[in-house]
Amino acid sequence: MLLSFILQLFAGKAQKTDYSKYPVYTGNDLGLTYSKTRSVFKIWAPTAEEVELKIYPENSESMGRKEIMQKSNNGTWIATIMGDYKESMYTFSVKINGKWLDNVPDPYAKAVGINGKRAMVIDLKETNPPGWSTDKSPAFKNPTDAIIYELHVRDASIAANSGIKNKGKFIGLAEKGTKNTTGLSTGLDHLKELGVTHIHLLPSYDYNSVDETKPDAKYNWGYDPLNYNVPEGSYSTNAYDGVTRIKEFKQLIQTFHQNGLRVVMDVVYNHTALTENSNFNQLVPGYYYRQTKDGKFSNATACGNETASERPMFRKFMLESMMYWVKEYHIDGFRVDLMGVHDIETMNLISRELHKIKPDILLYGEGWTAGASPLPDSVRALKANAYKLDRIAVFSDDIRDGIKGHVFTHDAKGFATGQTGTEESIKFGIVASVKHPQVDYSKVNYSKAPYAAQPYHTVTYCECHDNHCLKDRIDLSAKDASEADKRKMYKLALSIVLTSQGISFLHAGTEFMRNKKGVENSFESPDSINAIDWDLKSANKDVFDYVKALISIRKQHPAFRMMDARQVAANIVFDAQTVPGVVTYTINGAVVNDKWKKIKICLNGTAEQQMVELGPKEWKTAVLNNQAFTNVPVSGKFQVWPYSCSIFYQE
Ligand code: CA
Repeated sequence: MLLSFILQLFAGKAQKTDYSKYPVYTGNDLGLTYSKTRSVFKIWAPTAEEVELKIYPENSESMGRKEIMQKSNNGTWIATIMGDYKESMYTFSVKINGKWLDNVPDPYAKAVGINGKRAMVIDLKETNPPGWSTDKSPAFKNPTDAIIYELHVRDASIAANSGIKNKGKFIGLAEKGTKNTTGLSTGLDHLKELGVTHIHLLPSYDYNSVDETKPDAKYNWGYDPLNYNVPEGSYSTNAYDGVTRIKEFKQLIQTFHQNGLRVVMDVVYNHTALTENSNFNQLVPGYYYRQTKDGKFSNATACGNETASERPMFRKFMLESMMYWVKEYHIDGFRVDLMGVHDIETMNLISRELHKIKPDILLYGEGWTAGASPLPDSVRALKANAYKLDRIAVFSDDIRDGIKGHVFTHDAKGFATGQTGTEESIKFGIVASVKHPQVDYSKVNYSKAPYAAQPYHTVTYCECHDNHCLKDRIDLSAKDASEADKRKMYKLALSIVLTSQGISFLHAGTEFMRNKKGVENSFESPDSINAIDWDLKSANKDVFDYVKALISIRKQHPAFRMMDARQVAANIVFDAQTVPGVVTYTINGAVVNDKWKKIKICLNGTAEQQMVELGPKEWKTAVLNNQAFTNVPVSGKFQVWPYSCSIFYQE
């Protein structure tokens, strides 16, 4: 063996591992199966010569006992320990080519101690808060009914003016009756008041970058996964105890559910925080990751590695992990980070299986990567392949950048900030990237063809945690505009998001002009940049009231939430464009039984007032110049403000 390896070295090429030859284990009992009388440990490590299980008393560094695991079928190893080992910690180590690798928790660990270094034996039943067995997700029907609110657990409560006691913690977001300095609601009550349907939490699984012994010393978004099936410790009140973080996360989910909010987890299966030393790689070196031609870790994520969803045991891991979050934690949806790294077959398998457990689950992801992948584009869950995805949406960068300008060109303007030539990108976004006879695809900013087969394939947004906040971006790109005009641009941008077909998506605080002091990528910026300043809700009450009104209109009117691409194509009619920077269109609401039989939406992205032609028949006003109104009758020629949205309807 060694000799042949040396010979290969001399020949100048290392042997390429054929991972397809590895056995596949299909059982669903990997990890720990606990009972009061025994604990059964099972891991998949087909290349190991020997495997050791080490058990430690709770939070003790010294090993309590060592077990030699027994080889079992299809690459698995098993150890059964009699007695009650609850609250013990454990790790595994494998011997390959005569060398013992690191002691690591297994990827299937469901509870861990401080900083996720060791797994923990727990009784999952003891992690359920009172009433958990009757916890029920709020009613939800179609994916296009979703209005998603993307929130970082710590950002929500860490500012003094959040009025929240448990700052930076899961349970802080479950506090009721919290207020800002001037008495407006914050946290949970605010989310309820706003009326969004889904709270998308930024990574809340156990991640690597924040030291859980000093959770206030460092900030991070958490896109650096350590233990996929365990909540993050820094968001719990006791990260040493394996039970607390689980219980508190469940408490938050339960409270959201009781308050009409569904919960989406942001999941990052595309890479692991550690590469050579990750749990996966210390148990089965190489297998879980894609390699470049020269055998190195490939890196489509720009994070040092990319996982290999096309290999059966990683595909199985992703699927079982998400199924676990849905079953054990009652999670209502997933946002899949860099979904373009994963293969379509895996994503569709996951979608089918999750829909079996929860028919109204919401799935969406980033249809792109952060670098080249050895897996061909045609088989990956990229935006251009969205039409092949089964009930999974992708983020539309077309509408995002159509609204405010190219994300990386900071002074670029978009439709809402006065850039003409962006009209077709806006129209493409309005129809949720489906095929529409009036969209000129050759003029859409990025996609030259409709990539959505159905409106549910598109997530419509203009701001998320990545890149500049909308407020900062408008300040940068429209720096010569008056403050009053910038405010109009801001409202116009959000109007487009909340009136377009597809799934609406808002970044936390956008409803009251949250800013990050100009910081573009705040993934590790301090609280002074990332914390939500709840007094902005009072300072920008007009914006908050407007966004709340738009959300209410969207929820009341199915005309904005069509589920069928043919309906969109036939019942959204754009007016002939006469002025660059102006898009007006009519929705035939009657086709989806909307009580607004006809809806006219006028988007003016120019610096001038514009005349819109409403015809002789009378319309009622729902929104006039970025402000909610009711029942003001209008007809004929009508002047709308610069940078404004107006919505008229006929019953
Ligand atoms: Ca952690």
